[in-house]
Amino acid sequence: MASSDLPAMHTPFENPKFIFFTDFDGTITLQDSNDFMTDNIGFGGDKRREGNKDVLEGKKTFRESFREMMDSVTTPYPECVDYLVKNIKLDPYFNEYFQWALKNEIPTVILSSGMEPIIRAILKNLVGPDHDKLDIVSNEVEAREGKTIDQEGGWRIQYHDESDFGHDKSLTIRPYANLPADQRPTLFYAGDGVSDLSAARETDLLFAKKGHDLIRYCAKENVPFTVFEDWSSILETVKKIVAGEKTVKEAAQEGHEMYKKGDVGLNGSAK
Ligand SMILES: [Mg+2]
Repeated sequence: MASSDLPAMHTPFENPKFIFFTDFDGTITLQDSNDFMTDNIGFGGDKRREGNKDVLEGKKTFRESFREMMDSVTTPYPECVDYLVKNIKLDPYFNEYFQWALKNEIPTVILSSGMEPIIRAILKNLVGPDHDKLDIVSNEVEAREGKTIDQEGGWRIQYHDESDFGHDKSLTIRPYANLPADQRPTLFYAGDGVSDLSAARETDLLFAKKGHDLIRYCAKENVPFTVFEDWSSILETVKKIVAGEKTVKEAAQEGHEMYKKGDVGLNGSAK
């Protein structure tokens, strides 16, 4: 694919030198909005955790398990959006990162397994007017047959692609990674979950959230990664890389060293 066909090469900035791809739920936000909805107005946390376990053990695909979670929520869609807007909080440093990124002409692209209208409404509420400079690539919502999404039991998730993830995040990143060297930006990714691993492989540096299982996968699969607790640590590292004070390789080296020292917040419990 030519760079002219790749949205983040033009919007909101022309030919950026860096692009930041990021997961949404639990990475930009403090809570996972889909888990929150399932636990509180769907079939509950026990069933959700059972589904997660089935996915980890290979008994179910993420696509199947996530659809079951979403199907268990029958509240009309606009009420789901309002409920989440009221309850979901942003990482306390995300806005500081985002304003810095805009000033430094670094596009931020959200890659999510969630649904676009929910993500957009939460961002509008918590990021403010600049939310429209955040691109969202995610799943969608659709009406069930003979219903509208405003009705009880009227909506369901519409997946982005045919993959077992429902949304294979690597599909969006790969064309950027494959650009010729003289056009290719440095690619960052931030995430917290196992579904982020496919995306992580495509980028130059992954920020993996402290205490989450994604770290263990990265170490095992030799994906270059560093650890973050919140977006203040991401901002600090990205600032240094952009200023040429640190290379991506050096940042990734630190992640592996922290992992070896056992300083990445993993206590043996899988998430
Ligand atoms: Mg997540």
